[in-house]
Amino acid sequence: MSSDLVLRSDMGVELVKASAGDADVVWSARVSTQGEASLEAVAADPERSAGLIRYLLTNRHGTPFEHNSMTFLVTAPIFVFREFQRHRIGWSYNEESGRYRELQPVFYVPGPDRKLRQEGKPGHYEFVDAGPDLTAQAVEASTRAYLAAHEAYREMLDAGVAREVARTVLPVGTYSSMYATCNARSLMSFLSLRTQAEGSTFPSFPQREIEMVAEQMESHLARLMPITYAAFVAAGRVSP
Ligand SMILES: Cc1cc2nc3c(=O)[nH]c(=O)nc-3n(C[C@H](O)[C@H](O)[C@H](O)COP(=O)(O)OP(=O)(O)OC[C@H]3O[C@@H](n4cnc5c(N)ncnc54)[C@H](O)[C@@H]3O)c2cc1C
Repeated sequence: MSSDLVLRSDMGVELVKASAGDADVVWSARVSTQGEASLEAVAADPERSAGLIRYLLTNRHGTPFEHNSMTFLVTAPIFVFREFQRHRIGWSYNEESGRYRELQPVFYVPGPDRKLRQEGKPGHYEFVDAGPDLTAQAVEASTRAYLAAHEAYREMLDAGVAREVARTVLPVGTYSSMYATCNARSLMSFLSLRTQAEGSTFPSFPQREIEMVAEQMESHLARLMPITYAAFVAAGRVSP
């Protein structure tokens, strides 16, 4: 293997900035009935506030869940970003540029826990563990392709071909990085589609790699906004 090729199977999610708490849901909702006094009323009756959050979520009053912000640094292969950036509403993205910087030779290979054999029909696939031999074969074949692609990329850069043209030979398994900013409502919408979870009113069957990103974001939401998160789970993971 070329010494500078890096193979990864993990997805990086770092919460870099957050202004998000259950209280943000409460004050923004209570302006309806209390006007400018709503901020002071947040801490007055915690049990009532928790009940309000559950009520808003169950009844799909979504806008009070938008007055907060979470910014994540995500490091993942390009094929994950292609799926991720389909989520248009309440999300802002900035991704590293293959035009302005040389892309690093960091590539995705399936890890030992990734179930590789696909069985069933579209929409009803099941993924089953096919054992370490198939994983080793997938890693070996991927590495061969990555080496060839990276070599062609380097060859073009060394010859003076512009980065924006040379990059076209790189595969979607190449790692990229982006900042993604959302609010609790848009994050819950994302989680409802990009995780496969027991008790979902509308079960979804996402690709495992984007689910690995979603699971990490979910744990941040659960920590920052525990009442909102519990209400989301109790409501069958339907975004308000
Ligand atoms: C398991 C799975 C399989 C998928 N397979 C495919 C596939 O084969 N091919 C493919 O192309 N995509 C596929 N997708 C992507 C999917 O079609 C959506 O683009 C993606 O899930 C984002 O969902 P969204 O539009 O609800 O999100 P957002 O863009 O964040 O929108 C959120 C909500 O805003 C409203 N909204 C947004 N835009 C509009 C609009 N223009 N008009 C009216 N209402 C709007 C809707 O209520 C929408 O649910 C798949 C997604 C999943 C989860």
